[in-house]
Amino acid sequence: MPQQKIALVTGASKGIGAAIALALANDGFDIWLNYRSDHDAANAVAEKIRATGRACTLLPFDVSDPAAVKGALAPLLETEAPFVLVNNAGYAKDGILAMMDENDWNDVLSVHLGGFFLVTKLVLFAMLKKREGRIVNIVSTSGQSGMGGQTNYSAAKGGLIAATKSLALEVAKRNILVNAVSPGFIETDMTGAIPREKILPFIPLGRIGQPDEVAGIVGFLCSGKASYITGQVIAVNGGAYM
Ligand code: NAP
Repeated sequence: MPQQKIALVTGASKGIGAAIALALANDGFDIWLNYRSDHDAANAVAEKIRATGRACTLLPFDVSDPAAVKGALAPLLETEAPFVLVNNAGYAKDGILAMMDENDWNDVLSVHLGGFFLVTKLVLFAMLKKREGRIVNIVSTSGQSGMGGQTNYSAAKGGLIAATKSLALEVAKRNILVNAVSPGFIETDMTGAIPREKILPFIPLGRIGQPDEVAGIVGFLCSGKASYITGQVIAVNGGAYM
């Protein structure tokens, strides 16, 4: 029997990452589920994944901590290589640049860009040996259009878009496809506090998106149907930025 394909999804205890992990399980992947600290939420997602018949390995670690990333992933990678890596973990620490604390700048760059570097470098090595793989980076409209009050977050996501394209060029010959998915406003903890009346006028479809609507495109990019797509940024934003 062929070995079950594995998908590693970072930041999957809730929100967009949880929806992606569940969608990939429904598509037949065993899941390595990373998150940082919310064990109860992660366990609840793992239960849903196992109910689909797929395995789920919980991997609590901070993607921006080099020792933690290596400690959690290196032992697993000795024997198994994920076919899919979704770099999704992250958060925003908003504020205007003139008033921004240096930690808020560094933390946001470190979770999105540092996390991408640390996790991808380790997993990529295993993918290169197998000569196959799919990497999907979750970016943001903020990294494409810019967003006042999010200079740190825009810089991180814009940087991740550029990194997506460069890495796609580096690994295409090894049959590893690297793309970015760029959500607009999606209903998760991250956007829970933003007043809807402030957002809706900027969304042509007139509503906020759901995590499943992001997960669907990630599932497609990890499927056989997306075998000729690499280096792309695919927006899921209700038309908010075209
Ligand atoms: P969320 O509901 O707040 O979930 C964030 C997830 O990331 C949680 O699982 C959290 O784990 C994990 N996480 C945070 N920091 C981490 C770290 N240092 N190491 C490992 N895991 C960490 O956020 P979301 O809205 O689903 O966002 C997911 C991704 O989509 C982010 O990259 C975000 O920038 C991007 N995005 C979101 C939106 C939106 O409108 N929601 C729009 C565009 C882009 P714990 O909770 O267990 O600590």
